[in-house]
Amino acid sequence: MPHSCFADEIAIDFPAVGRVVDGMRHAFLGEAEDRDVLAAEVSVSRREAAGGPVVHLSLPVRGVCLTCGGRGESWTEPCTECAGTGASLFSHPVRLALPAGVADGATFRFRLTSPQTGPVRVEVRVAVQSTLV
Ligand SMILES: [Zn+2]
Repeated sequence: MPHSCFADEIAIDFPAVGRVVDGMRHAFLGEAEDRDVLAAEVSVSRREAAGGPVVHLSLPVRGVCLTCGGRGESWTEPCTECAGTGASLFSHPVRLALPAGVADGATFRFRLTSPQTGPVRVEVRVAVQSTLV
């Protein structure tokens, strides 16, 4: 489990609260610190939540600047793409299949990998609209 790779399509079929998430959190220990978790929120209607919605996210993932390869400069000039930081933000599309009956406030944690960034831990919070639309 700790070393499994997640593809862009992630099926989540467990409740967000309780032991499963705690177990995942423990599995993350020893890698990076919690502040490196990328937080996102998705909003679904109550009807969508009942049916097990599939949501599409575009996650801002920090990775190595492709222009300078992370050096922050090209030749002797500071890299203009990343302003010399060597890092760049990528938009990483993710398709997330939520379990039917997902509750408002449910939080899902998973890890995505991309060629630019390596593994990134993501925490997605689900907001269920109270209106019956
Ligand atoms: Zn750069």
